[in-house]
Amino acid sequence: MAKLQPVRGTHDLLGDEARSHLAIVEAARDVADRYGYGPMSTPVFEFTDVFQRTLGDTSDIVTKEMYTFEDKGGDSLTLRPEGTAGIARAVISGGLRNELPLKCFYSGPMFRHERPQKGRLRQFHQIGVELIGVAEPTGDVEVIALAADILDTLGILEDTTLELNTLGDSESRALYRDALVAYFTGVADKLSDDSRERLTRNPLRILDSKDKGDREVIADAPVFGDYLSAPAQEFFGAVCQGLDTIGLGYTLNPRLVRGLDYYSHTAFEFTTESLGAQGTVLAGGRYDGLIETMGGAATPGVGWAAGIERLSMMLAEPVARTRPITLIGLGEDGERETVRLARTLRQAGLTIELVYKGGLKRGLRRADRINAAAAVMIGDDELARNAATVRDLDSGEQTDVAIADLTDHLAAYR
Ligand code: ATP
Ligand code: MG
Repeated sequence: MAKLQPVRGTHDLLGDEARSHLAIVEAARDVADRYGYGPMSTPVFEFTDVFQRTLGDTSDIVTKEMYTFEDKGGDSLTLRPEGTAGIARAVISGGLRNELPLKCFYSGPMFRHERPQKGRLRQFHQIGVELIGVAEPTGDVEVIALAADILDTLGILEDTTLELNTLGDSESRALYRDALVAYFTGVADKLSDDSRERLTRNPLRILDSKDKGDREVIADAPVFGDYLSAPAQEFFGAVCQGLDTIGLGYTLNPRLVRGLDYYSHTAFEFTTESLGAQGTVLAGGRYDGLIETMGGAATPGVGWAAGIERLSMMLAEPVARTRPITLIGLGEDGERETVRLARTLRQAGLTIELVYKGGLKRGLRRADRINAAAAVMIGDDELARNAATVRDLDSGEQTDVAIADLTDHLAAYR
C-alpha cells in the first residue's frame, strides 16, 4: 500500500488556510468582474504539445518541471504548469476569435516538478487574468491596474514593488541576443553549467538565473534598453505613461525577463521583501506571438498570474470567518425547535452552528471553542413562553427574546 502521506511538494488546505485561499480567489474575482474580466476555466491537463510548443523548449518549465505522462490511449498529456497556454489553446480550438477582445479571470491548481521549499510547491494555486486581442499599451496598463487593485483589496499592495521592463519586439530581441552572446561568451568560464547551456539555446534566459555566480556576471551584461527599436521604445513609453496617469508607482528593472519564450514588450512583477527568497508574488507580461506560435491567427495578448500560497502568506491575518451564533436545545422539544430555527435563521442570512449533542455546559464549551458571538438557548421553560434565552458571549448579558423576534434581535451579530 502506498504511504499515507501527501506527495512531496503538495499540501492539504485546511482550516484558516483553506478559508484564506477561497477569500483571495473571491476577492480577486470580484475586482476582475468590475474590470469586465469574466470567469474562465480550462482543464488541468492538456496535450503536452500545448505547453511544449508555447513555453519554449529551453524554458525551465519545459526542460525540468512538467508533470508529463502517457494516458491509457497513448497520448502524451501534461498537468498544466501555468494558465496562459491552455487559454490560448481554447481561443483557437473554441473559435473565440470572434469574441475578441477576450477578457478572462481564472483560478486553480498548477503543477511543476520543482524543489519544494517555502513558497515553492509542486501543486500550487494561481489566480490570473488574460486580455486577448488588444495590441494597445492601454491593455498592459489595464491588467497591471487590475493586479494592483486586487493586491490593494487584499491589503498587501503597500508591501509590494511593481517592477517593470520591456522585452521589445522580435527585431530588438535579435539584436540584443547577439550582444548578450558576445558578452557571455567572453565570460563563459564564470557561468553556471545551466547558464552555459542557455548561452547557445536561449541567452536571454541567463538574465533570469538565480545562481549567485551568474548574478555577478549578469550585473555587467549589456542592457536591453540600448538595443530597443524605436517602435518598441514608443510602446514601452506609452505603458509607463499610462501607469503615471493612473498614479501607480513602479521601478524599472532592466534585468527583469520572464522565464517563458512567449513574452514580448511589457514584462512586470509585483515583488515583496516579506517572503524571503520567493519574492515574486505576481508576474506577467505581453505575449503577442503566443497564439500564432500555436497555429492560430496572429492575436496579441497580455496577462499575469499570481501564486495564491504566496499571497496568502502575505495576508496580515488569516481571513476570519463570520463569528457564528450557537443554538443550544435542551430536552427533546428544545432540540427539535433549534433544528427548525437553525434553518430559518440561516435562510435569513445568519451564521448558525447547532450543538448536536449534550447539555448546556457542553453546548457553551463548544460555543467558546468556535468563537461564537452569542448562544441561543431553548429549553422547556423557554418553549412554554415561545421565547429563547440569548446570551451575548462577550458581555455575558442575557436577554429573553420572543422566538418571532429572534431574526431581528440576532441581526446585530450578522
Ligand atoms: P519563480 O521565479 O518564483 O520560479 P516563475 O517565474 O516560475 O516564479 P510564474 O511562472 O511567473 O513564476 O508564475 C507566477 C506566480 O506563480 C509566481 O510569481 C508565484 O507567485 C507563483 N508560483 C510559481 N511557481 C510556484 C511554485 N512552484 N509554488 C508556489 N507558487 C509558485
Ligand atoms: Mg519557476
